[in-house]
Amino acid sequence: MPDKNRRTEIAAHPDAKRQERPLGQTTILEEATLEGIGLHTGCKTRLTFRSAPANSGIRFFRTDLPGTPMIPARLGFVVATVRGTNLGLHEAKVHTVEHVLSAATGLGIDNLDILVTANEPPAMDGSSLPFFKALMQAGIKTYPDSPKRLLTIPGEVTYEDKGSSYRATPSDRFEIAATIIHDHPLVPKLTLEFVMDTAGYAAAVAPARTFCFEHEVQFLKSQGLAQGGSLENAVVIGRDKFHTNAEGLRFPDEFVRHKVLDLIGDLTLIGRSLLNVRIEATRCGHAHNIEFAKRLNEAAAKMRKQPAAALK
Ligand SMILES: [Zn+2]
Repeated sequence: MPDKNRRTEIAAHPDAKRQERPLGQTTILEEATLEGIGLHTGCKTRLTFRSAPANSGIRFFRTDLPGTPMIPARLGFVVATVRGTNLGLHEAKVHTVEHVLSAATGLGIDNLDILVTANEPPAMDGSSLPFFKALMQAGIKTYPDSPKRLLTIPGEVTYEDKGSSYRATPSDRFEIAATIIHDHPLVPKLTLEFVMDTAGYAAAVAPARTFCFEHEVQFLKSQGLAQGGSLENAVVIGRDKFHTNAEGLRFPDEFVRHKVLDLIGDLTLIGRSLLNVRIEATRCGHAHNIEFAKRLNEAAAKMRKQPAAALK
């Protein structure tokens, strides 16, 4: 196996700048399986992570449907963004993909097959930590001859809509600064500045759980959402207290951390590594995340089409 040689080579240049380091694409070594119920659909579901070839990206497979249809985890396959990001191709759909995708990006995984036995991954504890741990235990394998596809933007990219605002700028690392603002005494304004690396993601972002406001619960259920939601996989923000399981809040600012988790998951749908971008986002949500991701994708695609002489 040539992989070990490449790993050694990377380790031999620990101080090299990212752009000069020949970062290879990655996948996982072993299979990993998780089971539970879907957050929104409430369905019983089993998810299996499987290694995938270089340049195949991240793909979902519905193993419960005839022919095991494949749905690419790419922006062009987003079919809904109400309280979660749903993908679909023809009749096959997968709901609430963002936590699984966030975990993969937290580990820098470029290629991954995700098999699901229903139309939603298991909610687990409402965070991405169970997925992250499963992927980490599966082990990471590098494709030394297939360089990572990086998202490179020519300059500032912005997006604003209905009080939400996003700004991306070129950087030499993946940074996120996210702010949530709510008209609520318990969570008025929270900001998280986060520089992406695997250890930091595992400790500061992956454990943050999904949340909703108490006054939304009945409405969500009436809309057919949050059917599998409970205090075992979500935090409910009440008028004057947080409703959680016995564990309580995992961080005082768990909510903005979860927003960062979701944003990382949604941006994964661009299909390129985000190692060269700083993102500032205020009041982010899935619909806006996806629109912003499309703007980033367009700016990067336009830049790639320019003659090389026009590039720095
Ligand atoms: Zn989420």
